[in-house]
Amino acid sequence: MKKLAAGNWKMNGTTAALEEMRVLLAAHPAPACEMLLCPPATLIAQAAYHTKGKALHIGGQDCHTKASGAHTGDISAAMLKDAGASHVILGHSERRADHGETNALVKAKAEAALAADLIAIVCLGETEAQRDAGETLALCGNQLHGSIPAGATAANVVIAYEPVWAIGTGRTPTLEQIAEVHAFLRAELAKALGEDGHGVRILYGGSVKPSNAAEIFAVQDVDGALVGGASLKAADFGAIVAALSAA
Ligand code: PEP
Repeated sequence: MKKLAAGNWKMNGTTAALEEMRVLLAAHPAPACEMLLCPPATLIAQAAYHTKGKALHIGGQDCHTKASGAHTGDISAAMLKDAGASHVILGHSERRADHGETNALVKAKAEAALAADLIAIVCLGETEAQRDAGETLALCGNQLHGSIPAGATAANVVIAYEPVWAIGTGRTPTLEQIAEVHAFLRAELAKALGEDGHGVRILYGGSVKPSNAAEIFAVQDVDGALVGGASLKAADFGAIVAALSAA
């Protein structure tokens, strides 16, 4: 599997922001890693239209567990697929916190994503209080085993380790702390999925930026990044893509 540089635009971006995708692709038309941007749902169809056949995948930031029905305001995995998405981020800590998403719900959403032929990016990670209490590995293990969908393979699931306290704060774990969690997740994936567990990409997320990307990508079992703030600007995300391509 190629490494993956994934960007999460969160609730940012109107049509003018599509220009960032054009600039990114102009600078990185054929990177050695995969590139993915997950804009708000309102931009997915336009983004997918403009990037069709190019080296930039487009993804969603959430999906419902059902394919259709009376769920006002929600979007199904099949709808994301139809709009041109190839991936969907699930269980981001902001969704777990803002919408009370549980591991069971994230797992059901991930299963809906696989049924719609989307690649599920399942997010997990500890709060600062959980890290301080020495609960990081236990928490990450619970989230991994509780959220991973039935039918997960190296091709259809990506894990994003995102310490909650590092998201949008400018703070990052030490490289040793990142290595410890990624090695743990790799071993747990192998237990859960056998041979496929060795191939599942494990992304690091939390204040990745051009200045720290290369050292993070040199850590064992870091197969890419999930990037928030630094994915909004083509120059910053492009620099992260270049660092991953060189890793
Ligand atoms: C994220 O939202 O997944 C994230 C990692 O954000 P940031 O890069 O801004 O910390």
